[in-house]
Amino acid sequence: MRLDPTLLDHPDHFVRRHIGPDSQAIQAMLGSLGLSSLEELMAATVPAGIRLQTPLDLPAARTEYQTLAQLKDIASKNQIFRSYLGMGYADCITPPVIQRNILENPGWYTQYTPYQAEISQGRLEALLNFQTMVADLTGLEIANASLLDEATAAAEAMTMSYGLSKQGARAFFVSAQCHPQTIAVVQTRAIPLGLEVIVGDHQIFDFSQPVFGALLQYPATDGTIYDYRAFTAQCQAQGILVTVAADLLSLTLLTPPGEFGADIAVGNTQRFGVPLGYGGPHAAYFATKDAYKRQIPGRIVGVSKDVHGRPALRLALQTREQHIRRDKATSNICTAQVLLAVIASMYAVYHGPTGLKQIAERVQRLTTLLAMGLQKLDVTIAPGPYFDTLQVQVENPAAILALARARGVNLRSGPTLGISLDETTEPSDLRTLWEIFNQGGPVPFTLADLSDPPSLPESCRRTSPYLTHPVFHRYHSEHELLRYLHRLQARDLSLTHGMIPLGSCTMKLNATAEMIPVTWPEFGKIHPFAPVEQTRGYQVLFAQLATWLAEITGFAGVSLQPNAGSQGEYTGLLVIRAYHQARGEQHRQICLIPQSAHGTNPASAVMAGLKVVPVACDPEGNIDLADLKAKAHTHQADLAALMVTYPSTHGVFETAIQDICEVVHAHGGQVYMDGANMNAQVGVCRPGDFGADVCHLNLHKTFCIPHGGGGPGMGPIGVARHLVPFLPQHPVVDLGNPQGIGAVAAAPWGSASILPISWVYIALMGAAGLTEATQVAILNANYIARCLSPHYPVLYQGPGGWVAHECILDLRPLKLSAGIEVDDIAKRLMDYGFHAPTVSWPVAGTMMVEPTESESKAELDRFCEAMIAIRAEVRAIETGAMDRLNNPLKHAPHTAHSLMGDWDRPYTRAQAAYPAPWTHEQKFWPSVGRIDNVYGDRNLVCSCLGMEEYS
Ligand SMILES: *Cc1c(COP(=O)(O)O)cnc(C)c1O
Repeated sequence: MRLDPTLLDHPDHFVRRHIGPDSQAIQAMLGSLGLSSLEELMAATVPAGIRLQTPLDLPAARTEYQTLAQLKDIASKNQIFRSYLGMGYADCITPPVIQRNILENPGWYTQYTPYQAEISQGRLEALLNFQTMVADLTGLEIANASLLDEATAAAEAMTMSYGLSKQGARAFFVSAQCHPQTIAVVQTRAIPLGLEVIVGDHQIFDFSQPVFGALLQYPATDGTIYDYRAFTAQCQAQGILVTVAADLLSLTLLTPPGEFGADIAVGNTQRFGVPLGYGGPHAAYFATKDAYKRQIPGRIVGVSKDVHGRPALRLALQTREQHIRRDKATSNICTAQVLLAVIASMYAVYHGPTGLKQIAERVQRLTTLLAMGLQKLDVTIAPGPYFDTLQVQVENPAAILALARARGVNLRSGPTLGISLDETTEPSDLRTLWEIFNQGGPVPFTLADLSDPPSLPESCRRTSPYLTHPVFHRYHSEHELLRYLHRLQARDLSLTHGMIPLGSCTMKLNATAEMIPVTWPEFGKIHPFAPVEQTRGYQVLFAQLATWLAEITGFAGVSLQPNAGSQGEYTGLLVIRAYHQARGEQHRQICLIPQSAHGTNPASAVMAGLKVVPVACDPEGNIDLADLKAKAHTHQADLAALMVTYPSTHGVFETAIQDICEVVHAHGGQVYMDGANMNAQVGVCRPGDFGADVCHLNLHKTFCIPHGGGGPGMGPIGVARHLVPFLPQHPVVDLGNPQGIGAVAAAPWGSASILPISWVYIALMGAAGLTEATQVAILNANYIARCLSPHYPVLYQGPGGWVAHECILDLRPLKLSAGIEVDDIAKRLMDYGFHAPTVSWPVAGTMMVEPTESESKAELDRFCEAMIAIRAEVRAIETGAMDRLNNPLKHAPHTAHSLMGDWDRPYTRAQAAYPAPWTHEQKFWPSVGRIDNVYGDRNLVCSCLGMEEYS
């Protein structure tokens, strides 16, 4: 008898776990749509002309067990050295209680950006702590809730300073003692804006040159602790805004920037408990004076109050941001680094001001002892005082570097050698370092033979208090902290509670197997500027992931540098610009953008130095081809690009996409495709095939990186062959591309340590699994559209009434019929235990629903049931059975507290809080009532309130 080979197949098919509906449910859903197969659904929804005819060329699907074993093998090719490289990155210790309960906890990492503030109070509090911590440590008045990295934060500071400057100067001074990647990113950002960057020595800066701003590093990249007072005073006198890129840990000991005249402080918070991760993700911070609050880039958490008059948190001053202000926004930033900001803030909560200061003092003492020992060995070092970095002069740096490598140690190379210590440094490490500088020989002294190291001189020492708020003092026992973390987590609705059907945001499964490698030390404990030969595992991972993404998009080259979708857009547009320039067509600076585009599109175009010309949409929500042709024609001499989202932000596969691309090409332009909706395309069609020249991918949407409550993300771009030479470079790690556009992020491969998530996803799914995921994503959206269309009109549909992977529900009629706004429905959904779909985007007064393939039919039905029940509540208002103002929608969400005491509402408490059967089994209680946004913006408070305010 022959063995049946299928008996040896693993029973564990990840595809069936990732995709919510099983085959029976898929058949039932197809049946309800009058279809018999997913193939038929594809034929109905995706234009025939663009459909992929062959399967994607990807490795066969593997099980979770096999995939993790294979990735472990790749990871083991990375070598973990002791890196003393500094340059804005320092190894640190993630407190285990924070690692397990935040970084590795889906209750935190699967949250969405806190737009629905009433069910996001936990992370909003953590972010408010972050802002308080940053404002305190920098000595400035207001801080935002994170930016992407230190280098882009410095670039944002440059743009903000330029916007605020009055005297018309177009030059920005950057100290040559800034970290090299910061200088590079600032230079990249300056060029398209027509700004000049002057890199030089601040000590001899000639103030007769007109500059609008200046950027300094503190302590400087070589470790020097400059006294910048005279420089900032001179700047102040001349109306020059000063930005200081400061090491947050050092500010526990050193005079903070706000006290020596800085207008803006930026920096990396990585060393507050976040793994190095070969470059990210880490949260950058941005702090400034209260007077500039309306010019701040990124998200700001502010305190307001809810309808019951109790303090409540929400995102403040949103009118600065791209989703409202578009091409006039302060920045293009959307996804930032929320999860990492939460970790950094909790690190401060965990250690408190005393603990942080002890860590800083220990680093400072070890560094000074290291210097004293080196001096004993007659090694020449730059004079102190030191915080954590020394510059060492040696005759034969190559020999010392080789000795260091042999001992598993990385030193910063350059004209002098740099050594930066950190929280993980032990006294035994000093011995190793001394031996290295003693040509490998044993040293004739021990730590005990050295005298007490001098502390920092008074002139640079900080005297002001910081982190005085009780939150930084209360949770120092692990039980207290554990319970604080869980208390905050319990206030936030995440994917662990139910579907989060956010249109355009693709809140799909973030499988545990995908997340596990993120905290492997082989990925976490690698400095971004470690020599490439120590990172062979990462290089294999990057190469494979880039090849797979190129295959999926149909492009020739991929850059993994951009660390969010917005950054991908900006990078792609710069690549297009560089291409035009290389052909002598630098005048091509018009960027066509459909009115339905995401706010990041126009904001990115402006940053790339392009002029935005809007293109109209037709009544079906498609790009108005006639208007496109007219605009392309009018601007044919100067057309740079069209930015187009596909399927459109209206959730439809436009049939004319190939014509659209052709029109743009015929007029000399390039097609930038916003790939946020790639979840509707993978394995079904490819942008590179149907005419796009560049597209970014939101790995935190389509490729399973969790949203983390508003970041991290990754926004790599794919480009067609003619654009490959222009992909980004990096000043520290050679990426090739001599014609490239420069650096767009601090780290060469962006947030490298979360790329394993997308790698694992693709490896687990294989070509067939990915294609089926796309098909089911489209099936789920059409199923919801079909279930809900008798109750709410579906706004845009393609031919035959089909939608793509999301659908827009038109709620505008309810305003007329019942006085009900889209917000009322969003808040009422909270009482049912759901997070609202995307509200009022891309069309005001509507909701955009994107279920993703990961939601089961049961979960889709539950959501539809909630929406239908809410429609019935609206009908009661329409018929007059319920009052137009005093009803469960207008009073939503209902907190537990609001149900106590007298009850004079025309509906019952049960109807308020238990409106659906499942709420009896699991009730999610919003922790605050409806929040007053206007009050919060009028009375802006962006740091922790005194505890008395909460009583
Ligand atoms: C999410 C999104 C973006 C922005 O991506 P981020 O990673 O948040 O910067 C751009 N365009 C569309 C259509 C999106 O949905």
